[in-house]
This record gives sequence, structure tokens and C-alpha cells, in this order.
Amino acid sequence: MKKKQRNPKSALIDSGQEPAAVYARMSDDQQRKASIDDQIRNCHEMAEEKSWSISKQHTYCDEGKTGTTMFDRPGFAALRAAYKRPDTPFRRIIIDDTSRMGRNEADVHRVLDELEYYGIHIYFASDGLDSQNPWFRDAFSAKARQDAQFSKTHGKRVRRGRIGLFEKGLNPGWTCYGYRNVPLHNETNPDARGRAATLGMKEEIDTEEARIVVLIYMWYSQGLSLRQIVVRLNTDRMPPPRKCGRKIKSCSWARSAVDYILKNERYRGILVYGRTTQIRNPENGKMTQRRHPEREWRRSCRPELRIVDEDLWGRVNVERTRRSCVGLARAGGLNRTDKSRTYFLSGLLECGVCGANYNLRSHGRYSCSNYMWRDGCSNSATFRREDVERSLISALSNKLRSPELRESLAKSVFTFLKSEKARSRQSHDHVGSRKAQLESALKVEEGRRDNLVHAIAVGGDMRSLVDALAGSESEIEVLAQKLAELTPPTTSKDARFNEIRKFVDRHTDSFEQILLGAAEALKIEFQRRISPALTVTPVDEKEGRVFCVTGGIGLFSPAEGEMLSEQVNQIGQHCTIPIDIKIPLCVLRKRKSSERVAHAAKTSPQYG
Ligand SMILES: [Zn+2]
Repeated sequence: MKKKQRNPKSALIDSGQEPAAVYARMSDDQQRKASIDDQIRNCHEMAEEKSWSISKQHTYCDEGKTGTTMFDRPGFAALRAAYKRPDTPFRRIIIDDTSRMGRNEADVHRVLDELEYYGIHIYFASDGLDSQNPWFRDAFSAKARQDAQFSKTHGKRVRRGRIGLFEKGLNPGWTCYGYRNVPLHNETNPDARGRAATLGMKEEIDTEEARIVVLIYMWYSQGLSLRQIVVRLNTDRMPPPRKCGRKIKSCSWARSAVDYILKNERYRGILVYGRTTQIRNPENGKMTQRRHPEREWRRSCRPELRIVDEDLWGRVNVERTRRSCVGLARAGGLNRTDKSRTYFLSGLLECGVCGANYNLRSHGRYSCSNYMWRDGCSNSATFRREDVERSLISALSNKLRSPELRESLAKSVFTFLKSEKARSRQSHDHVGSRKAQLESALKVEEGRRDNLVHAIAVGGDMRSLVDALAGSESEIEVLAQKLAELTPPTTSKDARFNEIRKFVDRHTDSFEQILLGAAEALKIEFQRRISPALTVTPVDEKEGRVFCVTGGIGLFSPAEGEMLSEQVNQIGQHCTIPIDIKIPLCVLRKRKSSERVAHAAKTSPQYG
């Protein structure tokens, strides 16, 4: 017992089994599947050494998630939610390596600030970095910079490697419809176990899929529309491309897939690499595609991969040019014109039947994209763009003016802030107990130093005693610094209900102003405020069929960056204006699937 008190630092940590949480992450770039298990095992070994206990319930993992963003990491989000709870059972998190927490410097520093605020310690098992050490931030910054640099250079290395594969005639990307990947082995240079090393993937023509590609080209050159081709492919159950849209579960042909096949030069034996690059949007963590200038593309002639002969390719190109000059949508695409920029609900309406997005089709009507392009949804009804826009604006302005809505929004913000205050009080109590611990440890260490000084005075300056004194003094310095750093979290002062009401009023007024403003500005605001989307479902009412539009619109838009504005985000969640409006259905003559096939067949001769 006495021995333990000698080292006040360990007395602080080792008092019983301190509960700890574990976090592990693995990205999808060719890391071993066992990596997560390895990380957790390493953390457990370290916990045992330090006498910390890890409960299974507080082991959080993210498999196949990149470290370059904090978005889309459910495991990390759950960990953050757990340590923010006032009754959280752990005060310590163990992570194998700093890079597992994240590879974005700004993000990881923000997480550290957050942990400090909630009084949570973090320990990196492989690096031996402990947030309780005074030099922790300096060492961590250096390591975080290395981690961030790694992901940047890694991206460059991957691109260089892929270009190398392409130059060698191997496939640097995923398979394309009509081809399959065959691993190419290096038989002359086996590895230690005698197995031939894989050099890369070589592409080969898949005869069944190639037959369908040729059919698509022939149908198009004969004058069938993209939609007619899609209907025919889906009715005949032709195997679709493997990669499917996120929202639609069943795999089927889509118009975009057929369009892509008709444009792809690979089918005439010309391979192109490096057309686009992917870049992450820092605002929402999503990857977006950027097109490289055409002079940077790499082309290679590969006659053995030709599926479509030059004559057919030429005929399809002539047909494409002909069609690009006629038709309503050919004027530049519905999403690329100046006018389309004022369609403020684009991409924000979701089919209540299948969950796919609504797309604007000709004559300004929205229809389910899954019904329109894939024939995969029963919701064939459409509604006018003006109808939904006008109804939404008028319903919103009515709501914003209603005192009941303002009152209920103010109430929900008030309740939220109250619970926040309770949590902050709990955190305050934690700081108090930590302070008492540190003070008692400091007292013990000071007693030890005095004893050492006394011993030196009596017995002369023996080397071991002098060393022990120096150690003791530096320990005192560390403890004193920690005590000085320990500042109680600022408790937010009681927000009065009247003040909150004013806050809500201010935001409702400014939202009203936005509703009156230009459609382009409204579009930007709606993209931020509507989350995830408004659901539009056809329903039978007494007066006939109508569309029900349901969902919620935030009273104010959360600012950029998920981490920075978490508090505001949370208040935003408590300030959602419920939407429940009805809009008339646009009556169209419905053509059944079988009729459509018959129609498609009538317009051109049958091939197969
Ligand atoms: Zn649908």
C-alpha cells in the first residue's frame, strides 16, 4: 500500500480497474481483414499492462471507412455520442495508432479539443502517446501531420501505379460491361512458397455480355430510344451491369448505363485512362468527380478488345449527332440551363413507393426516376414542378407566420438547452473530483521531496538521492501544471424562454425573407436545410388521387463542417418545420409495361 503511494501518478490511474473504450478503424484500401482484430488485441494488451478494463459494449469499429473524413463513420459517431453522455462509464479511450482516429489534421485536433472539454483521456497504444502527458499535443501534432501526408502521397502513388499497369496493357480499374478480369501470373518468378506472383488483371471479352453490347448498338442505330432499349433489356431479363444505384435494391438496366455503353470507346478497341479524378467535398464528406482536361488522358489502341465493328460504331455516332439536334431535352440538358438553376427542389424529392429520387421530365413534370428509367417502380404518376414549388412556398410562409409553430419551436429549443446545461453541470462535477485527486497527489509528492532534501542534508549528496530529488521535482512541476490547466467548463447561463423566443422569431423572419428572394438563393438554402429529402407519395383521397409531400425543413441551415457546428446542428435538429402538404396529380395516360414493349417492338424490327 505504502509502495503505491510513492508514485502518485500511478496511484491516480491505477486506483482499481479504470474503465476504457476502444476504437478501431480500417479503410478499404487493401488492408487485411484481420486488421481490426489486430488493433483491438493490441489495445487490450496495453489496457492489461495499465490495469484498465475494456468492456465489449464500448468497443467501437469502422470497417472499410476512410480516415480522411469524419463523415460516414458510424462507429466513431457512436463513440462520440457515448463519451458525451453525462453517465458515460469510461473516462479513457484507447486507439491503436493516431492514423486510426483520422488522417485529416484539422479533424483530429477538433476531436482532441472535444475530448478535453468532456474530460476524456486518450491513449494511442502503438505510439505510446497519452493525452495526460504535458508534451502530448506537440508529439501528436507531428504524428498527425505525418498521417495526413501519408494519405496524400498514397493517393499519388496509387495513381502512378495505375498508369504503370495501363501502360503495360493491364486493367488499372474495375471491369467494364462486356469484359472480365483474368489474373496474370508471373510464372518465372514464384514467391517464397512457390506460388506465382500476380502481376495484375488482364481484360478478356465476355461473350454473353458482348452479345448484349452489340444488340444495344444495333437497336440504337435502328432508331430505338434509350428508354425503349432499357424496357426491352429488362423485359428480356438480360444480365445488367453489376454496379447498381444506391437507392434501388433490385439490379436492372438504367438509361444511364445504356447511354454510357453507347459512348464508351472501349467497345471499338480504344482504351482511355485518367478521364476523371475523385475529390472529397469537405462540407459533406462525399466524393465528387472532376474531369481532367482531355490532353491529360491516356489512350491506347487494343484491337483484341474490340466488340463493336467500325461500321456499327460510325452508324451509332451519326444517330447520336442526329438526336442531339432534336428534342426538348437536347437544348442543353434539364440540369444545365440557366432556368434549371431556379428549380429549387431538384434532388430533394424522394419517391414514397421505392425511395428513388424524382427526376424532372419533359413538360416540367416530376416523375419517379426508377419508374422512368428502369421500369422498376409502380409509381407512374407525375406532378407539375410549379405545383409542388408553389404549394411548398405557400405552406411554409403560412407556417412561419403562425404563432403556434414559433411557440412549439421555442419550446423544443428550450428543452434541449436545459438538458445541455444538466450535462455541463455533470462535467463540472467531474473536474472537481479530478482537481481533488491532483491536489492530494501533489501533496504526497511534495512530502517525498521534503524527505529527500532532509536525507541529503543528513547523509550528504549521494548520487541516487540527488537523482530521486530531480525526478520528484519534475513530477511536482507536471502535477502543478496539470492543476493550473484544469479549468472548469464554462456553464452556459440560464437561457430565458423569452430570449429563445426572440431567437426563433429572428430566424423565422429571416427564413421568410429568403422565401421571398431569388430562386437560386432559395435552392442553396433548401439544399442545406432539407435533410435527407421530402417524401412524395401518391395517395387515394375522397376527392381523388393526390400526392402527399412529407418531411421537415430546418429553421436555419447548419454551418459548414460537421464538427465545428455540432451544437448549432443539434439546435437545428430541434428546430425543424414539419411539412405535410398535398398537391394534385398530373393525369397521364398510363401505358402498361407489356404495352410499352409492344410499342417498342412496333417501332423497329426485332433483333436477337
Ligand atoms: Zn418509385
